[in-house]
Amino acid sequence: MSKPKHSKVIRPGFPLPVSDPVQDRFARPLRDLRLSVIDRCNLRCDYCMPADSLQGRGIFLPKPELLSDDELVRLVRVFVRLGVHKLRLTGGEPLLRPGFTDLVARLAALPGIDDLALTTNGILLPRHARALKAAGLGRITVSLDSIDAATFLRMSGGKGSAAEVLAGIKAAEAAGFDQLKINTVVQRGVNDNEIESLIGFFRGTGHIVRLIEFMDVGSLNHWDRTQVVASADLLKRIHDCWPLRPLPSKVHGETARRYAFEDGEGEVGFISSITQPFCGDCTRARVTADGNLYSCLFAHRGAALRPLLRQRSTDDALEAFLRGQWQAREDRYSELRSSIDGDSQRVEMFRMGG
Ligand code: SF4
Repeated sequence: MSKPKHSKVIRPGFPLPVSDPVQDRFARPLRDLRLSVIDRCNLRCDYCMPADSLQGRGIFLPKPELLSDDELVRLVRVFVRLGVHKLRLTGGEPLLRPGFTDLVARLAALPGIDDLALTTNGILLPRHARALKAAGLGRITVSLDSIDAATFLRMSGGKGSAAEVLAGIKAAEAAGFDQLKINTVVQRGVNDNEIESLIGFFRGTGHIVRLIEFMDVGSLNHWDRTQVVASADLLKRIHDCWPLRPLPSKVHGETARRYAFEDGEGEVGFISSITQPFCGDCTRARVTADGNLYSCLFAHRGAALRPLLRQRSTDDALEAFLRGQWQAREDRYSELRSSIDGDSQRVEMFRMGG
């Protein structure tokens, strides 16, 4: 039997999930937590961790600096007190974290979390999909920027293959995950000429492709606005092939604008942080694998939680700290992008977790 929304299943020692989440300076409620569980990755996507940018040793966090499973579970439990009910596990590549499936099982059991999702590059799904399903994972988003073997390698820093990711999607289907989200970052002159073939490939499969405008996250990806393909242009191109009609948002604060194929072959989404920012409804907090809290994907300053987690502070003290951080939040980077000093050292995507 599935858990009712905001389930009131009380377990000894577990606080009731709240119905009035903490709000920030723009009255945006805290509802979603994106938790990066590791910064390591088995790919080198050029819009996140370009192969030429990070060389040599000491790139990634040493194990002792990673939050432990106990610390992650405790942290999420306290976030639930503040209103979080959607939890997305990210990375780096989260499936590289040792014992990840056990962590998923513990997070899935937490009262108040009624939407537990994973963002992965899919390459390790054949090994883990069934166990993740059994552990209680609800949804999977697979990052796939091209089904063309050469373009895939060009965008992944020469690592992995489109075939491996497609095998991962098949394994997720076989494990019972349907309606996967397929996240595709579109870059002009790189993969924008392939969008129709990628959409055509997934039409009718039940999976939903979301086309993401190339974003200036971090400072390594050599972002250039001329490389951005506006969602409106892609929407027109796809509509010319397969007529589309707009769909309403499924949830408050949804990042994608949804469109259904008129012929019933599914839907497609557009995440347009550059041309159609959506900060007004942003209900997302992010925590990096080493325990830094960020209130925006484009933040360059965060709050360290690890000391609070490791220095015997109480859950009440942790809750009060998190509440204060969110209440002081006024991020609207995407809306203010053009007027903000672009040079400030923003946190890298592979650390922030997207
Ligand atoms: S730019 Fe920041 S505030 Fe705006 S939607 Fe993205 S994460 Fe939220």
